[in-house]
Amino acid sequence: MFRRDKKLANIHEIREALAKVQIWRRAPSLPIFCPICDAPEFKIVDRSARPYAEWYAVSCGHCGIDDAISIPLCPQMNSGN
Ligand SMILES: [Zn+2]
Repeated sequence: MFRRDKKLANIHEIREALAKVQIWRRAPSLPIFCPICDAPEFKIVDRSARPYAEWYAVSCGHCGIDDAISIPLCPQMNSGN
């Protein structure tokens, strides 16, 4: 399975990828399974420009996904920490 489109295609895939980012942040040494093809080759690179935004480059060596996810940081949404 190799996708012609290397970008995350829709909000569902982006949410799946974000869920993987959350898992990766808790356990960065464990293999992360690709949200698209389920291969344990999902790579995440934190390129965040804190405190302005979180920014993650995500790629998969199996299905070819190569995209980036940005999460704007809103101070008023961080009060729940
Ligand atoms: Zn994949």
